Amino acid sequence: MVNSGYLEHFERLTDGIYSLDIDWNFTYCNDAAARILKQKKEDLLGKNLWEQFPQAVDHHLYFQYHKAMREQQPVFFEMYYPPLDTWFNIRTFPSITGLTVYFQDITEQRRHTKELDEHYKSLFHNNIDAVFSFNLSGYYLSVNLAMEKMLGYYETDFLQMSFEQVVTPEETERVKLFFSKAAQGETQNYETKAIHQNGDIIDVKVTNIPITLEDKIVGVYGIAKDIRTFKRAEEVLIQTKKLRAVGELAASIAHEIRNPLTSIKGFLQLIKEINSDKDEFYFDILEDELGRIEMITGELLVLAKPQAKDFKFRDISKIIEDVIILLGSQALIYKVEIQKEIMPLPKIKCAPNQLKQVFINLIKNAIEAMPNGGKVSVNAQLLNDHTINIRVIDQGVGIPKEFLDNLGTPFYTTKEKGTGLGLMTTIKIIQEHKGTIDFTSDQNCGTKVEINLPLNK
Ligand code: ADP
Ligand code: MG
Repeated sequence: MVNSGYLEHFERLTDGIYSLDIDWNFTYCNDAAARILKQKKEDLLGKNLWEQFPQAVDHHLYFQYHKAMREQQPVFFEMYYPPLDTWFNIRTFPSITGLTVYFQDITEQRRHTKELDEHYKSLFHNNIDAVFSFNLSGYYLSVNLAMEKMLGYYETDFLQMSFEQVVTPEETERVKLFFSKAAQGETQNYETKAIHQNGDIIDVKVTNIPITLEDKIVGVYGIAKDIRTFKRAEEVLIQTKKLRAVGELAASIAHEIRNPLTSIKGFLQLIKEINSDKDEFYFDILEDELGRIEMITGELLVLAKPQAKDFKFRDISKIIEDVIILLGSQALIYKVEIQKEIMPLPKIKCAPNQLKQVFINLIKNAIEAMPNGGKVSVNAQLLNDHTINIRVIDQGVGIPKEFLDNLGTPFYTTKEKGTGLGLMTTIKIIQEHKGTIDFTSDQNCGTKVEINLPLNK
């Protein structure tokens, strides 16, 4: 029985309180208790608990109350009571005269926790990044769908595995270190390499976060992102920058070589004229080799970025016609017929000498691809209001598939006297004119090169 001195205080509490005698009859009940239990106070006082709430007899509550009485020890628990659709937090205090029960309706709180729980679950399951959790030994406790997709295992597989099985052997020690730091409470960010179930190596960026439960670390969360695309873009960028730097260097060296080369050629000519015929053979070799050096330096020079002053409004169809005339005699030697179809085009702002170099390279390559003769067609037309389209098509030997993917690799040549620099400079010049260049080729059928250049009015 509750000391009556406290009664008034109890009435005002929002917690429900009631007392039972040793026969489980209500001896006291405050307003809050009656309200929460949806009963009138008068209907409870003097009545038996189990008669009043018959459904509680088969319930958890029944055993907890009996346990408290039997052991004369307070018992605290939470429970759901279906007849009232209510969650309760219950604290019982037994004495030899009976049981006093403090209780709260925690349904709202529970619902809130449940909602929060669902929010977290959805953050976990619907995350586009791979999210997973480990126990402290590094074994997977849960993984989301993105993780299953990224590494190609099902969750059931993961639950038998530790992180050591999905990182590459070289990375294991590093990752173990990061994991153990996270397991000691320090969030870790790092990049590593994971192995897909099919053996592919995947570059990933990982975050490991300690999981704490009541101030104790019980596991580690992981979030991982596949960064392969990003890595590749980064590599391409570095490669482009490197090529540009090398190109500029090559061009400036080529420029320096040109002047002495010219004087050497001049003097060689002079010596040749005053010397006897028996040395002619050597002079021819010297001239040939010098010619080759000249050709290489000529091509490398194009790698220098054209200066703004080099850009002029020019008629491209005129440039192409000139190149066709220039290469006419070579075509004749190869028994190649050049068929042209060149429409009138608006003038565009361009570096004319560089574009000339482009058409020389492409038409020369086309001619050289047909050692037994054939036909090269050169078309130029207005594709639409803002694009000029130029095509050089041959019926030659074609470009090997492996090389087609790496066009522009410097010094790749299949020709005895080739430099392997023509396509690299061609691609670069077109890029500097903000155009595109595409190669399609079938071995033994021929090659088509298609250039689109923007009209800049
Ligand atoms: P080069 O002509 O000095 O060899 P390029 O850079 O112009 O250097 O061309 C590189 C290589 O690409 C050539 O050696 C050749 O194997 C191949 N190639 C280029 N254009 C064609 C083409 N139209 N048909 C077949 N192969 C070609
Ligand atoms: Mg060439």
